[in-house]
Amino acid sequence: MTDSPDKFEIETILTHGGRDPQQTRGTVNTPVYRASTVLFPTLDALQDYALPFRYGRDGNPTLTSVEDTITALEGAAGTVLAPSGVSAISTAMLSVVNAGDDVLMTDSAYEPTRNFARDFLGRMGVAVRFYDPRIGGRIADLIAPNTSLIMAESPGSLTFEVQDLPAIARAAQARGARVAVDNTWATPLYYRPLSLGADLVIHAATKMFGGHSDVMFGTVSATAECFPALKRTHRLLGVHVGPDDAFLVARGLRTLAIRMAAHEERTLEIARFLKTQPGVLNVLHPALPEHPDHAIFKRDFSGSGSLFSIVLEPRPRADLQRMVDTLRLFGMGYSWGGFESLLLPIPTPTRTAVPWAEPGQLIRLQIGFESLNDLKADLADALARYRGA
Ligand SMILES: *Cc1c(COP(=O)(O)O)cnc(C)c1O
Repeated sequence: MTDSPDKFEIETILTHGGRDPQQTRGTVNTPVYRASTVLFPTLDALQDYALPFRYGRDGNPTLTSVEDTITALEGAAGTVLAPSGVSAISTAMLSVVNAGDDVLMTDSAYEPTRNFARDFLGRMGVAVRFYDPRIGGRIADLIAPNTSLIMAESPGSLTFEVQDLPAIARAAQARGARVAVDNTWATPLYYRPLSLGADLVIHAATKMFGGHSDVMFGTVSATAECFPALKRTHRLLGVHVGPDDAFLVARGLRTLAIRMAAHEERTLEIARFLKTQPGVLNVLHPALPEHPDHAIFKRDFSGSGSLFSIVLEPRPRADLQRMVDTLRLFGMGYSWGGFESLLLPIPTPTRTAVPWAEPGQLIRLQIGFESLNDLKADLADALARYRGA
């Protein structure tokens, strides 16, 4: 792109961002640069510390192309890349917290995010407290003088509570705390946390950005105020990604807008279908008007993703086994964001601040690009097996 990417709308950034054919011998895509050693022709060049790529860990044009695209998508000052979503989360948190600090984490956070905070930051002398994802502006009552970071994930990727991010960000700003948001579910197409007052935004690019279930990757983008510390922490930790993985993410991003639009429509159709099925007690999808957080969702999001959960009437494990062991199309596996549909039984979610209140069997679904009729038939049969029909 010859113009600044901020001038364009998101679909244009996705198709044109991070590539410059004039610099790459005319190729449409930025090639895969594999390099550890970078050679300097002269002593002057060797001692020119302003050169961007002086060693493999400084990055290369393949990595820059992904960083630049995500930065433009999120309206950030800059982006760093990580070899997984969890590594992006740990890098983001370590860029903000110091020994003696206090972190507030949403009770709906992705389980490994909770584990990093408790098991790792705990050892480093950082206190971690969990808060009700629906706390909104009342989070002000929890912010202590040493609270440096509030972690949000909206919606929670198992349980789909939507957070009142503007209210949380206002309370944080008033007390000098930073807010980081895991934005993996909605992607910047449908949710822009930095524009709602957050300081850092994290993606498990393993999911929607990659989009094909074949790469592990993470990103952290930050405001101008937070980016220098993020970049420094990333460098000090030695976090680095391979150019082949970066290329797969760059490729995935090119079709993100059309994939998300298709996921949204198809996922809503399956969610509405499941609402009508016997044995389904609840459908946890924030775009449905009856979802308890629908008003906040409508205010802050411009669309929805491929992932939601349902709650089934409680039944013995043998019924669940009969249901999931003979699925025809839905795969059973962790992760999501690919082109294929997945179904995952979830044990009772870990909760610290507020007990989980939905009795029954939680099942998370990702809706891919198979025929909707075939998917509905697979689900209807699965539910009939569950109920012993
Ligand atoms: C998968 C996921 C992560 C972690 O990403 P990995 O690439 O698996 O490390 C973080 N947050 C959310 C919401 C996720 O779904």
